[in-house]
Amino acid sequence: MTQHVATRCNACGTAAPRTFFEVPDIPVLVCALWPDADSARACPKGDLQLTYCANCGAIENQAFDAERVVYTDQYENSLHFSEFFQGYVRDLAQGIVARFSPSGGTVVEIGSGDGQFLELMTELGDCRGVGFDPSYDRDAPDELDGGRVRFVREYFDESQKALGADLVVCRQVLEHVPDPGAMLRSVRAALTPESAVVFEVPNALYTLEAPSLWDVIYEHVTYWSAGSLARLFAACGYDVTGSETTYADQFVAIDARPSASDQGSIGVAVDDLAHLTGAVELFSAAWRETIAGWHEELAARAARGERVALWGTGARGVNFLNIADPTGSIAQVVDINPRKHGKHVPGTGQQVARPEDLKANPPDLVVVMNPNYLDEIQTSLNDMGLHPEVRCA
Ligand SMILES: [Zn+2]
Repeated sequence: MTQHVATRCNACGTAAPRTFFEVPDIPVLVCALWPDADSARACPKGDLQLTYCANCGAIENQAFDAERVVYTDQYENSLHFSEFFQGYVRDLAQGIVARFSPSGGTVVEIGSGDGQFLELMTELGDCRGVGFDPSYDRDAPDELDGGRVRFVREYFDESQKALGADLVVCRQVLEHVPDPGAMLRSVRAALTPESAVVFEVPNALYTLEAPSLWDVIYEHVTYWSAGSLARLFAACGYDVTGSETTYADQFVAIDARPSASDQGSIGVAVDDLAHLTGAVELFSAAWRETIAGWHEELAARAARGERVALWGTGARGVNFLNIADPTGSIAQVVDINPRKHGKHVPGTGQQVARPEDLKANPPDLVVVMNPNYLDEIQTSLNDMGLHPEVRCA
C-alpha cells in the first residue's frame, strides 16, 4: 500500500501524528451492495492508515481519498428494521426534546437520510423540521406532514443562516467528512447565538477497547472520543454544554452552543486523553490477534465440514467478511432488511439471503456482529427451530 505521511494533525495542528494501524485494500463503501457477485468482488477499494494525535486525541485515516467514496442509491444502512435500534432512536429523540424544548421552533437535521428521525423529532418536540441531505432520494416526497417536515438536497452551511435554526442535530455524519473542523465552523456560521447543536458519532474508545475492530471502515475518516470531540468543538468556536456515551457506550453524543468567541469552552468533564493514548497502544496488537484467531477458527471449521453463517450485513458484517474471512469460507450471509436480499457483499461477493433461508442448510455457527442484537437473533433462530452456536465477532 502507498504510505501517506501526515505532517500535522487536522484537528489541532500539532506536528506529525503517529501511524498506529494499517490495512490495505478494503471496500471503500461497506454499505453498498452489488447486483451480482463479479461486480461485488471488483468493487472500489482503498487503504486504511490510522494516525493518532497525542496532543488532542484525534484519530484520522491518512489514506482516505474522498474521490473514491461516491455515495449512491446502492447505499443502504438503515437500521430501522431492528426493534432494539428503534427503541434507542426514540429514547435519543425524547432526550434531545427534554434538554432543548424545541416546541414551536425549527429543528435542522444534517444528513437526514430517509427522514424518519427528523419526523420523530418534530412529533415529539412539536416543532418544524428541515432535513439537509444531498443524497435524499430524488423520488421521495419533498415534504411530510403537511409541510411540517421538509427536505433540502444540499449541504447545510453558512448560506442557511436565514433559516434561523433553533436546534441542529447531526448523527453519524461528522466521521465521514474529510475536514470536520471546516464543517463545524461552517455550521456555526449558520447559527444564531441562541441555537444549539447535538452531534453523535461512533465512540472511538469503544472501537479501540472492545476492541470493536469491525467498526474501522474506509468511510470513516476520523474517530472521536468524548474528550477529543469536545476539544474539536471548542477549537471550532463552540461552548460544549453536554456529553454522554449512548447506545451501550458505542456512540458519543455532544451538546454545544456557538461561543461568542472563536475559541470556545468545555463545560463538562471529558478528560480522557491518557485513557485514549493507552487504548491506541493496545489496539494494534489486539487487532492482529483477533484476525489470526478467526483465520484459524474458520479454517478449522471448514476442515470439519461445518457450516458458518453471518447474520447482519451492515458495515461491521461486510468488514468482517473481507478481513476475517478473505477465502470465503462463510457461505451463508443473511440480513433482516428486505432491501438487501438477493444483492451481493462488496469485496467477497456472497449473496445476501433472508434469515428463514438458513432453515434449508442449518448452520453450525452463526456469527453476529453487534452484541446489542444477540438476544433478538437468538430468539429468531429459536423460533425457526434452529439451535446453532451463536457468537459475537
Ligand atoms: Zn491533534
